[in-house]
Amino acid sequence: MTATVLLISTLKYEGSLTLQIQSKGPLSLLVVQMKSDSTLRGTAEWDETINSSALTSLCEEGLLTITVEPKDGKERYQSIININHSTLSATIESYFKQSEQIDTRLWLTADDNRTAGILIQKLPDDSLQHKDNDAWNRIEQLASTITDTELLTLTSKKVLHRLFNQENIRLFKPKTIRFHCDCSKKCITNMLRGISHQELQSIIKKDGQVNINCSFCRKHYAFDIIDIDAIFASENLPNDSLKDQH
Ligand SMILES: [Zn+2]
Repeated sequence: MTATVLLISTLKYEGSLTLQIQSKGPLSLLVVQMKSDSTLRGTAEWDETINSSALTSLCEEGLLTITVEPKDGKERYQSIININHSTLSATIESYFKQSEQIDTRLWLTADDNRTAGILIQKLPDDSLQHKDNDAWNRIEQLASTITDTELLTLTSKKVLHRLFNQENIRLFKPKTIRFHCDCSKKCITNMLRGISHQELQSIIKKDGQVNINCSFCRKHYAFDIIDIDAIFASENLPNDSLKDQH
């Protein structure tokens, strides 16, 4: 979740960013989605037998997908890489190297109650007013001296001072991140369209209704036979009316 918060701050436009991991290991699925309005939601599916913290063991044959959807309806952008680093931060660093050719460093940490991170990214050379050829190496080395405890316990202001007190730094106003899920009966209905009418009818025969819990917020959605038939009736309409004409 911290990685997603840091990643969306690199976007130059409004939109949403989704970080997704799928694997054959104990952590089979992880999805975190954040929007420019600072709302965040996430879900994960894992096996109780997790006994290693290395990302490569947690996510055997894992894929990391990053999807960016601009708000203004511009085309969404998706990039997929194999997980072959032992940490999420190294995986994301290599994603930026491979997909975007941008030097990026990321530090992530968490305990049972808190999570924190730092992301630094090299700006294109021509965006610098005064050339400082050593800037990237220097900032990277200074940032590397941060400890997990410092990251978790110090305020952003103190972290910046502790790492970069020799540099000319500017601290922006903090943003409050909050949980929000925008699931709706409409989006669950769209998801059900991907399942066959017959399969849904057989679930209703067995359970009386189709029950879906949103995997992000656990909100419950129920569909009875009338709802299910209505979903497929509206979908079949164009074909049926075509048939009538022939
Ligand atoms: Zn939801």
